[in-house]
Amino acid sequence: VQHNDPDITLITPDAPMAAETHGGRAKCLQRLARLDLPVPRAVALSFKAVHGIAAGDMPDLQALLAHFDAAPLLCVRPSSEDPDWGGPGAILNIGMNDALYAELQGRIGKVSAATLYLRFIQSYAIHVARLDPDMFDDVCEDPVQGLPQSLHAYAEETDEEFPQDPAVQLAEVLRSMARAWEGTTARLLRQAKGAPADAGLGLVVQALALGLGKGECGSGVMQLVNSQTGVRKITGRYLSQSQGREALTADGDAIYLTRDPRGASLEEQAPEAFEELRKHTDLMRTRLREEMQAEFTIEGGKVYLLDGVRVARNARAAVAIAVALADDGIIAHEEALMRVEPRALNELLHRQVDPEAERDVLARGIAASPGAAAGAIVFSAAEAQAYDARGEACILVRRETSSEDVRGMHAAVGVLTERGGITSHAAVIGRGIGLPCVVGASDIRFQPRKKQLTFPDGRVVKEGEFLTLNGTDGEVLAGETPLLESSRDDALKKLMTWADDIRDISVRANADTPADADLAHSFKAQGIGLCRTEHMFFDEDRLTVMREMIFADTSADRAAALELLLPMQRADFIELFRIMRGKPVCIRLFDPPLHEFLPTDRAGHLQLAEALDLPLSTVTRRVEALGEYNPMLGMRGVRLGITVPEIYDMQARAIFEAAVEASQKGPDPIVPEIMIPLVSARREVEIVKTRIDSAAAAVRNETGQDFSYRLGVMVETPRAALRAAEIAPLVSFLSFGTNDLTQMTYGLSRDDAGRFMSDYVRQRVYPEDPFHTLDIDGVGELLRIGADRARAVNPDVVMSICGEHGGNPESIAFCRDVGFDYVSCSPFRVPVARLAAAQLAV
Ligand code: PEP
Ligand code: MG
Repeated sequence: VQHNDPDITLITPDAPMAAETHGGRAKCLQRLARLDLPVPRAVALSFKAVHGIAAGDMPDLQALLAHFDAAPLLCVRPSSEDPDWGGPGAILNIGMNDALYAELQGRIGKVSAATLYLRFIQSYAIHVARLDPDMFDDVCEDPVQGLPQSLHAYAEETDEEFPQDPAVQLAEVLRSMARAWEGTTARLLRQAKGAPADAGLGLVVQALALGLGKGECGSGVMQLVNSQTGVRKITGRYLSQSQGREALTADGDAIYLTRDPRGASLEEQAPEAFEELRKHTDLMRTRLREEMQAEFTIEGGKVYLLDGVRVARNARAAVAIAVALADDGIIAHEEALMRVEPRALNELLHRQVDPEAERDVLARGIAASPGAAAGAIVFSAAEAQAYDARGEACILVRRETSSEDVRGMHAAVGVLTERGGITSHAAVIGRGIGLPCVVGASDIRFQPRKKQLTFPDGRVVKEGEFLTLNGTDGEVLAGETPLLESSRDDALKKLMTWADDIRDISVRANADTPADADLAHSFKAQGIGLCRTEHMFFDEDRLTVMREMIFADTSADRAAALELLLPMQRADFIELFRIMRGKPVCIRLFDPPLHEFLPTDRAGHLQLAEALDLPLSTVTRRVEALGEYNPMLGMRGVRLGITVPEIYDMQARAIFEAAVEASQKGPDPIVPEIMIPLVSARREVEIVKTRIDSAAAAVRNETGQDFSYRLGVMVETPRAALRAAEIAPLVSFLSFGTNDLTQMTYGLSRDDAGRFMSDYVRQRVYPEDPFHTLDIDGVGELLRIGADRARAVNPDVVMSICGEHGGNPESIAFCRDVGFDYVSCSPFRVPVARLAAAQLAV
């Protein structure tokens, strides 16, 4: 017998053993041994030993077998460092041969003994000798008759008798499992799950509790919670006269664990064994500080625990389990927070494609807004509204969306676009309103005139026919796929309060409308970090007035249109202040190029001509004149504020009047925050500030009410970041708009990059889509420069991020590092951001 060989170790409570050297299963078995649970004797082979076996260096198996004197049969099971990395399947019943067959017949009966032998021959043939499973097709179902047939078939196929020496059997099993791990496919598969290239495999050789024979014999699994909901309920299956995990795959014959009206149960059949198992599983939970699934065998009424594995769980169960463990004092709140992957919360907050459902994936695009939806496809916003009016679900399909589509998006249950990336119009609006959205699905042929989509495999889906959109994974699925509802339960609420107690960076929401603000409030955002006011102008009545304003020839005409818009805006802001109940509301002045508000097609031009009582040719000419070659770098943002100042004047007045009115209703005076977009020079800020100050003075005069406000600038051009020292003294806050800043730093169109982004990421030009995960090296450097320079001249300046990155956990880590005061992201990402921020503070 070998002693003190660290690579071939009998698993005892104090043998040297670690997941990093012997794998997670070996380590877990040791923990179970320490709890004095009835674990069958086991020997762990380290990664090094297994690697040696694959290379032809077989250890002394006689010494190994000497550990198992009393046990007739063995099994070998994989033990990779992380169980998720997989590994070769377990092989049971090693040691079975003619002699043992004869001996066991007396002990457990002829049929059971034949079954064990037969199973071993077949799994050995298929997994070790790598023979074709078909060779056993003609073998008789009855094990006693099937056994000689199988032995014969084996000898026929291999020209050798089935090996009888347990040491030879074990050597071959170890060799085949060790080699299977080193195969290319296995390596690629585990690397896809995050395993390093040199991940090792350990093996566990364990005495086998038979699970077959006289008295109560069988095997099964038990866990104390439901894997879908995390609710405490003993679940699992048990199958008499079975081994391994057979109870999970045997349909029909396996029974429930607890009493169940639907059928027999272990609790009734073997109450003592059941009770013992329940205690063991509960002990694992408290002592291993994790919800565990017990793999057990019962032999002649005696319970053996073969293994404990972490209970598989979806996001909802993960939250419930972590919270329950903390509530029971088993883990600390901090640890409960660390046990939930922030992104997984998306699964709870949105409907999802049922993971059990069959998925017929027609095409893939960019997963731009999470959640799933099924509906009839439509090709125009008007059609979407018609469906909505009839109460029917529809998916809006567009090459790309623009402001004209926003109403259609509100009416649809999902949006699919051919173009665009993670910060394209459809994506930003989709996330904002919690609408599942797949963009940049350029493999699909969009045929809006024919009102149909042609998919890569040739299938055609026409308007009115159903598709399912999976915005979480970027899939387009055929027909109506079953969905799971979202669930915001008490466990989630509790976890989030723990997160809020601990985190040290604030989280606000980007919210443009009262509906968004309601959402933001319900997700406990600490304010609105970005209200994109242009999104308030898309309602039918407003759009027309807006267009009148854009078409105004004279300053007086423009003023008249703005006069109509003023009360609408004022009402919007009063609503926002009311909903946010005194929490800060940061309102960004008008940003997009004006032509975005104009119709793009002839029918739209005609409608506008009628509404404005102008000749069609005039309308068409004016629309064309407003067009720009590169609108994102054109007449937008503060440039409009400088050249058409009446718009900002109206907005500032609306904000101040709203603040005065809302302050009268609430307990505390409202201090609105006003933000200027797309600044690149100090002088821009000076000019706009002067006008806003005079609007404030005018409103103070007219109302007789004093109030204050905070002015800020969006840092979203590289120059604004570089010249932050000039800008910062004029303002009380800077909000980094990383969507435009990424666009301008890379010179990468946020609306077009989707077309080549996947190639770029695949070829590792970029590690990730920089519109999705903040580019720390480049854009991040500008953020640092901006923050440092601003702070140097104005130490009190409040800093934040409000681009889409605000909801991304890695980007939040960076923002916290740079010392930002808050992040702002779309309402549905607020819980993700709150949890991610908390994990940083743990
Ligand atoms: C930004 O550019 O990061 C930003 C928040 O503004 P928008 O997305 O509206 O351009
Ligand atoms: Mg911007």
